[in-house]
Amino acid sequence: MSVGDAHPRSVFAAEITTTAIEPAIVFDRVGVSYGRGRKSTVALTDFNLRVTAGETVALLGPSGSGKSTALGALAGFVRPTTGAVRLAGRDVTDLSPAKRGIGVVVQSYALFPHMRAHDNVAFGLKAHRVPRKEIDGRVAEALAMVGMAAYAKRLPRELSGGQQQRVAIARALAIRPKVLLLDEPLAALDAQLRQSMLGELQELRRALPDTAMLYVTHDQAEALALADRIAVMRDARLVDIDTAENLWRRPPSDFTAAFLGGANLLPCTVNRVSGTAALVTVGTSTLRAEAPDIPGGWGVDAPGLLCVRPHTVQIGATSDRNAMRGTVVSTVWRGASTRLRLTVDGLGDEITADVPGHLDIEVGAIVGVRFPDPAGVLIPPTIGAETIGAAVTSAAPQPDVPK
Ligand code: ADP
Ligand code: MG
Repeated sequence: MSVGDAHPRSVFAAEITTTAIEPAIVFDRVGVSYGRGRKSTVALTDFNLRVTAGETVALLGPSGSGKSTALGALAGFVRPTTGAVRLAGRDVTDLSPAKRGIGVVVQSYALFPHMRAHDNVAFGLKAHRVPRKEIDGRVAEALAMVGMAAYAKRLPRELSGGQQQRVAIARALAIRPKVLLLDEPLAALDAQLRQSMLGELQELRRALPDTAMLYVTHDQAEALALADRIAVMRDARLVDIDTAENLWRRPPSDFTAAFLGGANLLPCTVNRVSGTAALVTVGTSTLRAEAPDIPGGWGVDAPGLLCVRPHTVQIGATSDRNAMRGTVVSTVWRGASTRLRLTVDGLGDEITADVPGHLDIEVGAIVGVRFPDPAGVLIPPTIGAETIGAAVTSAAPQPDVPK
């Protein structure tokens, strides 16, 4: 719970402390539709989110899930159809973007091509009516923060993509915003540069301990590296929000399990639950599982999904203790690991296993497959007509993930 959820005891106390206890960012039941009538698109539905000062929240979701729309609603680029956005307790829903005092960085840098780095950064300060004599100092400070002090005189075309993005970040920082929004800031960079920029963003975050950040990405690795909390989005809705570790360890939904880290989601029947330990049946196998607390608890004989992370599946000989017999269906070398698809005797669906290194194995090979004990974590079955695949459905690249 954020501090903003605390209710002051008296009106008097509320008057004194309002600004102190209000979250830096509030989305209050925000809805956005583009266009009208039959051609309209609902891009955001009943979106609620609070971000406190100093906190970084990642909006993570596939393309088209409404992330940029949410960010645009806060920045003032997109007009909410319903609901309100508030900054430190102030309703800014109808305020022009420039008056919100928010720093915004977008994927495409959006630098003025005819202006030198210095002038690009100074532009925002002029727009915010910063006194003339302060501008040079503020520009230098902002460029220094992103390691671009030596490039102030360069035009954007004389800078690499990564350098241009640093200038764009400096421009956002120069106004000393309390709220910083970043919309896929690394998406246009190559993989290696993305890694080093990710490190720089982590440092920047430490250098701005009071700034609230909203970081839009479709890349789970960025979300895991930067965010205190991750808000997972799907089809115009926020589906799950929690710390990265909680979402990773105990995914509340099959979508989050698959999107954040990739998962085998094996349909199962819950046989017995004792505390947070459960015994489940998958196909003809009985496995132990972790059963997180859920509202209403786990019903016995109820269906569930067993989430088994691919990197926890062990491949060995069929004679290994507790090994199930598996047949290799496909193998893809991914550099640091090899991804196998397997059918496993006694399990209904194919599973995915990520084994370290380059595993030289033929399609059709018979192997021993072992799950850890407990095999994974239980997830409530999806309600409705959504398909529950056993596959690793994550569209995002797979990072090296925490155990
Ligand atoms: P994301 O940033 O998660 O990729 P967006 O917020 O950009 O998603 O888009 C959400 C949905 O709204 C998508 O279906 C997209 O096609 C649609 N959309 C976005 N911007 C506009 C616009 N200006 N006009 C009409 N539809 C839009
Ligand atoms: Mg987007």
